[in-house]
Amino acid sequence: MTAPPPSPVSTARKPRPLTGAPDSTRSGHKRRPGSRRRIPGARGPLLILLAVLLAVPAAIFVFLATREPNRIRPTGIVIHHSALGSRDADRRADAATIDRIHEQRGFGVEYEGRVYHIGYHYVIRHDGTVQAGRPERCRGAHCKGHNDRVGICLLGTFTNRPPSVRQQKALIRLCRDLMARYNIPAERVVPHRDLGHTACPGNRFPFATLRRQLGD
Ligand SMILES: [Zn+2]
Repeated sequence: MTAPPPSPVSTARKPRPLTGAPDSTRSGHKRRPGSRRRIPGARGPLLILLAVLLAVPAAIFVFLATREPNRIRPTGIVIHHSALGSRDADRRADAATIDRIHEQRGFGVEYEGRVYHIGYHYVIRHDGTVQAGRPERCRGAHCKGHNDRVGICLLGTFTNRPPSVRQQKALIRLCRDLMARYNIPAERVVPHRDLGHTACPGNRFPFATLRRQLGD
């Protein structure tokens, strides 16, 4: 038997090592131990890899720094009354009063760099004045489990008497505006008592009338 011809692989030149021991036989002079041989074209992919490795944590950092955990898109409206203990207290109160009360109850959240204590998004005073509470896009603190809905508090205690006519008119205007802007159907406008163990906003609150006016 004759020996097989030498394989072409066996005659090919061995690839040079990328790094490693000095190669004094080929270059004719000694390289310093530990120095790297420059490989043409090897730096591009390394730079791309480095850029990717830096970009990923940078993107995560930007995401974490700019996200707003308390941001919501309102999905409904919950109606409350203030029930501050007396008719006089309800009449004198305003959004700042509720803010102080809710601060004591620890309702505060940070939203876009500011702290809001008041849990409602709007307050409607006896004379029909509408006051802003926390921003509409900020998660509320007014109805456990349903704080992705706008909370509107009418100042008063509607267990014995209904809200003033001005309050009711202001409430209808505000609800219509919110419903139009956030595409909220009338059935998603509810009294607090429908969502929790409470009598809020009182049995004299004319809810059936409100729903009728909102087109339910
Ligand atoms: Zn309530």
